[in-house]
Amino acid sequence: MTDVKHMKWWGWGLEGIAFHHENKPGFAPFLKSAVGVDLSLPTEPTSMAFEDLDVPASRASDAFLTALTGIVGATYLTTNDMDRVIHTFGKSIRDLLRVRAGDLARVPDVVIYPADEAEVQDIVDAAVEADAVIIPFGGGSNIVGSLEPLATEERTVISLDLGRLNRVLDIDEGSGLARIQAGAQGPDLEAELTKAGWTIGHFPDSFTHSTVGGWVATRSSGMQSDKYGDIADIAKGLRVVRPGGVLVIRAIPSASTGPSVREMILGSEGRLGVITEVTVQVHRIPANREILAYLYPTWRAGLAAMQAISESDASPSVTRVSDGNETVFSFATSKASKGLSSLVTKGLGVFLKAKGWDTTKMCLSFVGYEGGDELVSRNQKLVASIVKKHGGVSVGKGPGVLYDQKKFDTPYIRDFFLDFGGSADVSETAAPWSKLLPLYTDVIASANRAFDEIGVKGWIMAHMSHSYHSGACLYFTFAFVSTGDAIAQYDVVKTAIQQAFITNGGTVSHHHGVGLEHAPWLEEDISSEGIAMMRGLFDAADPKGTFNPGKVV
Ligand code: FAD
Repeated sequence: MTDVKHMKWWGWGLEGIAFHHENKPGFAPFLKSAVGVDLSLPTEPTSMAFEDLDVPASRASDAFLTALTGIVGATYLTTNDMDRVIHTFGKSIRDLLRVRAGDLARVPDVVIYPADEAEVQDIVDAAVEADAVIIPFGGGSNIVGSLEPLATEERTVISLDLGRLNRVLDIDEGSGLARIQAGAQGPDLEAELTKAGWTIGHFPDSFTHSTVGGWVATRSSGMQSDKYGDIADIAKGLRVVRPGGVLVIRAIPSASTGPSVREMILGSEGRLGVITEVTVQVHRIPANREILAYLYPTWRAGLAAMQAISESDASPSVTRVSDGNETVFSFATSKASKGLSSLVTKGLGVFLKAKGWDTTKMCLSFVGYEGGDELVSRNQKLVASIVKKHGGVSVGKGPGVLYDQKKFDTPYIRDFFLDFGGSADVSETAAPWSKLLPLYTDVIASANRAFDEIGVKGWIMAHMSHSYHSGACLYFTFAFVSTGDAIAQYDVVKTAIQQAFITNGGTVSHHHGVGLEHAPWLEEDISSEGIAMMRGLFDAADPKGTFNPGKVV
């Protein structure tokens, strides 16, 4: 078969990598008090064995498979159950609960791995001719239900995996523009760029298992967006295979050419064609990259400091502050001898208590600095004075280094938690600065009411990240142990949170996209005229509903 890397069918990341808590003494007590899980009790993996899954048979006709095989060759087409299941879902809790329980209403009929844009074009044309459906597949990391075939889909469904289009094709050194094939995953493309002295500066928490094409198709945002922008800013040029030809958006710094077709492709979630190439703005690797940690006595103080930083002359790469609960979680997931927990158990905790802080409510913040010595030092001084003004204290580089190292490990905790009957997921929004605090307060209250309604001991925590002039992103993580139908209970909590976003002037999603998961709130977000315009675009550009039908609107 192909050498394209895929995540586990039942969880996050590659087989053999998992979360372990034994070296994190705060984790077991945290879990007990947050959601009532006792880690000392024995548990069994909650996932069915793959052999026990009832995978629906492929509906692809022999004639169609023969035609597709003629395009890519037999090695790069499969109707194998494992491959089709891996390509059915993303990695939301809804996806994981369903796949682990063998709830496979509709899986793709065939998975295909084209080698280049010409093969993508032939597949697209063959699919249109045969009235089949194409769902482009990047890394499979989305959490908004943007990959699954509609349960009612009767046509043949092709999962078109971009994994073999994984190279950095060219770097225009004079302009800092890199042409990258759409299926390139984060670490691979960054390694190629690094060799030539460049960085993309786009590091979503899913970086290790997501692709540049997927980032564009979902309007992704990475942790360093304060400096480098969101993928919507970074992606300058695009090539998109459409029926009969390729849509080409040249990499132009800025243009006045009517409504932006580039913007139509951004966030299109596979509905307008198959992105085969993205030309991204890249940057010279900075001389220094540092993340410093700070603590604030309250969430209000932390948020105010982040706003003040965004309004100041400082130009950090990361601005992030956790609420009290997320700070508690960060301490609980730190290793025994290192970083956060040791900091607070030692002198700092005593010092902060002496200052009158309630250390159970303090808020941990990270600010990232990139550039030459002089710039980094100037930015750190500007931020230090803002931190001081808002009653915060600096806790130095150590926690920042640890945060940077462990941010890609956090998703593994959810698989661990699932084995204890736990459900955990995230919801994120963006809102103007003036609305962030009331929005936050209402989301927490709404989630807690939802936990009460379903009768569970729930946990919700949040952080603010991705600052803009007018506002920022708020990112909530929630968890509970199900006492009944886990998906129905998840829906109650998720709905309460998403509705609170909209009611309080936030968007349905800052960077995860719409898919099926967020579609119910889109009209309230962009108005019925906005929905009509989007429908018109999809209907006109894809009259046969070939491309990932049913997603977004
Ligand atoms: P997939 O999941 O494979 O596909 C997503 C959608 O894009 C689908 O509709 C698919 O059809 C379409 N698509 C994919 N490739 C193409 C293509 N070449 N042409 C046309 N359509 C295509 N997101 C962030 O933005 N920032 C984060 O920090 C972040 N952290 C995450 C952490 C975790 C643990 C998880 C599970 C998810 C996270 N996400 C984050 C969400 C997810 O990683 C992003 O949405 C990502 O951009 C999806 O990329 P992908 O390659 O995995 O796409």
